[in-house]
Amino acid sequence: MGAWQGTPISPGIAIGKVIVKKALNAQIELIKNKEPQHERERFHAARSKAIEEVKGIYNQMLQTKGEKEAEIFMAHITMLEDMELIEGVEREIDDLMCNAEWALDAVAGSFIAIFEGMEDAYMKERALDIKDISSRIQRHLSGQGDLNIFKLKEPAIIAADDLTPSDTAQLDPELVLGIINEGGGATSHAAIIARMMGVPLVVYPNITSLVMNGQMLVFDGDKGTIELEPKEEVLKAYREKRKNLLERKIQLEKLKGTKTVTRDSFQVELAGNIGMPKDVKIALEQDAEAIGLFRTEFLYMSRDDFPNEEEQFLAYKEVLEKMQNRPVVIRTLDIGGDKELDYLQIPKEMNPFLGCRAIRFCLKKTELWKVQLRALLRASSYGNLRIMLPMIAAMEELIEAKGILEEVKAELRNEHIPFNESVQVGMMMETPAAAVMADVFAKEVDFFSIGTNDLIQYTIAVDRMNTEVAHLYSPYQPAVLRLIKKIVDSAHEAGIWAGMCGEAAADRKLLPLWIGMGLDELSMSPPSILQTRESIQKLSHEEGKKLVDEILLLKTAQEIENRL
Ligand code: PEP
Ligand code: MG
Repeated sequence: MGAWQGTPISPGIAIGKVIVKKALNAQIELIKNKEPQHERERFHAARSKAIEEVKGIYNQMLQTKGEKEAEIFMAHITMLEDMELIEGVEREIDDLMCNAEWALDAVAGSFIAIFEGMEDAYMKERALDIKDISSRIQRHLSGQGDLNIFKLKEPAIIAADDLTPSDTAQLDPELVLGIINEGGGATSHAAIIARMMGVPLVVYPNITSLVMNGQMLVFDGDKGTIELEPKEEVLKAYREKRKNLLERKIQLEKLKGTKTVTRDSFQVELAGNIGMPKDVKIALEQDAEAIGLFRTEFLYMSRDDFPNEEEQFLAYKEVLEKMQNRPVVIRTLDIGGDKELDYLQIPKEMNPFLGCRAIRFCLKKTELWKVQLRALLRASSYGNLRIMLPMIAAMEELIEAKGILEEVKAELRNEHIPFNESVQVGMMMETPAAAVMADVFAKEVDFFSIGTNDLIQYTIAVDRMNTEVAHLYSPYQPAVLRLIKKIVDSAHEAGIWAGMCGEAAADRKLLPLWIGMGLDELSMSPPSILQTRESIQKLSHEEGKKLVDEILLLKTAQEIENRL
């Protein structure tokens, strides 16, 4: 019925029925000459479903979080039952003889404008609640209400127009067979999360207009091929490949418990990247020797306000305890770019990846950042914690950040709260500025971890989210490789360790280079760990060194890729 070539993003074979997830049309259309009674009924049915849904969330929050956190959902129920809203929508439907969607959008829009215009910060924020309840009703009006991708009843493939990082993190990997997303590059955070969960993902523009709920679909996350309603022989070939992948996985399991060491005894620490405490289980199942990157921003997403100190402390402690004294690198909040927080209400930026992101945001909102630092330091007593600062580009930022950390340490000492006084503090190496100054930065921190996802985009000036320029976004670019070499050499000259936690850490072609450069640690999506160990056991550090010298003389990414 349809075969397409998409962009492969996360490996694996997906076979199953499809569920379409489309964001609601931001531009709601006015449709006239509608039968008012029918539109009113549609509105009330959708509103009732929304109320049922919020009541469910309220009860769940009450049981799991407590009354204070659940309160907001009670307020949403009150809003959904508000007579001013209901009568306003009914009047609009009657007066214009229009569709319920338009009437609701118009009435909610006028409420939002009133709240946004208020002086009081608390009242201003109510505009967000109106947006929330209105989009909930709109979702039910659109007929997508019952198809909740976060609460799948049976396994399915999701075809989405724009799956955000926090959407992806909320999916159940047991039931999501695969994802086809309309946009986003290989290092978009939605892609990274899918890879981490071991869920296959392909990008294909316009997929949500090509498929319908319930249709049978297969796709290949390694090749990018997609087939809708496949013929029996196609299905058979996909099943065969899935079986082979499974056998290969079982084969790799034999490497559990073996050392990550080259033929000539060069040892590398093989670590896992995680986004939530629950991911430690996946990392340990894949025999991660450490956690090389805990992206803490996911703790802040999918909720209505900032996690408090206690919530964060418990999350960090859980990871540290589960890792039983093995190293755990926890990165402080790296919000911004493609990782948005609805409740932050940050003004839209022209270039969010160059804007108020990561450490820049934290140095502006120091009170908020200190909460995270306090939670981290308190958790440091429960394992082998290493604190990592994201996106440092200038020495001023590092000095200021370390100063704030010292303030928090002093506070804890005053309060007689124990923490590890010698906790390691390192920085992400993900801006060209930091890489060029690596020898200077190396004297100020305990470790470097190279973030190739950003280092590539900032070095080549190519947006990691933009598929139009994806051909330039390459870890094989000689400029990127030279910067990486400089970072590792600078670390070792200063006597500190250097790791890599960007997606390139698991690139099998580049692995001989990382071994040759002498990276001390490689951290990756857990499903890549065992195959990386297998490759490293076949490599030689000495041969890698020679290869690095040879590669760094080449001029183009293509030549380098060919040589590798
Ligand atoms: C990176 O930039 O390589 C990195 C690991 O961080 P993130 O992907 O979260 O930006
Ligand atoms: Mg980064």
